[in-house]
Amino acid sequence: MTSKTYIPESALAIVAHPDDIEFSCAGTLARWAKAGSRVVYLLVTSGDGGIADPSISKEDAMKIREAESQRAAEIAGVKEVVFLRVTDGMVEANMELRKRIVREIRRIKPEVVIAGDPTVFFPNETYINHPDHRAVATAAMDAIFPASGQPHVFQELEAEGLFAHKPRKVYISVWDANASTYVDISETMDIKIEALRAHASQMMDWGPGDEIRKWAAETGKGKEMDYAEAFRVITLESDEDWELSKGDPVKIYQAREQRRKEKAEKAAKEAG
Ligand SMILES: [Zn+2]
Repeated sequence: MTSKTYIPESALAIVAHPDDIEFSCAGTLARWAKAGSRVVYLLVTSGDGGIADPSISKEDAMKIREAESQRAAEIAGVKEVVFLRVTDGMVEANMELRKRIVREIRRIKPEVVIAGDPTVFFPNETYINHPDHRAVATAAMDAIFPASGQPHVFQELEAEGLFAHKPRKVYISVWDANASTYVDISETMDIKIEALRAHASQMMDWGPGDEIRKWAAETGKGKEMDYAEAFRVITLESDEDWELSKGDPVKIYQAREQRRKEKAEKAAKEAG
């Protein structure tokens, strides 16, 4: 299993704004969806602050951007988009958001979660990473580990039929320097651009094709990939434990307990 060919059974992408996925990881998600993965998008805000036209209300902006997000997801072969509808521009990485993300992880039970890099503050000399990006990336990491996989944390979610789930891997979208894994998106490059174009309210006179293609070509350079997306991958669950548990921490606990007992019994027998 190499990073080039790895296809998870399911993936959940967690981002702040409607077009964040298309800018960062839509090529990878479209590739996985094409190969049969169940992919879900989780958008923390609906981008209601992202339309500068004063004649369009915040409520209308939200509707427009949610429809664009649905369309972008469809283009990538993704059927489910979850909107948390936190106010655009005001996201905080607080306990409430952590819990709302844990709820979705426990409901969807993804093998892989994709999110942004919470450590990026100054990605280059002309941009300060958006506070919503930082807050959502932080809340996502804190939800993924350890909260989501701990049965006694947010245990009240059991009343909704939602139980602890520990994802197998976390894919963090990175700006190259910290990347450990490159996903070849040559086959889904056109889909990524078309999905980005679905965010028509954000494109104005900007046709994203050339620039997005240039960035993806740059990322794929030297990796025998025409176009690529870059990630830092954190593996939370070994292959063996994942096969055994599919993310259910109780199963892992029971298997370890069983092994411990067997060992103790064997030692007792040997001691006579
Ligand atoms: Zn954004």
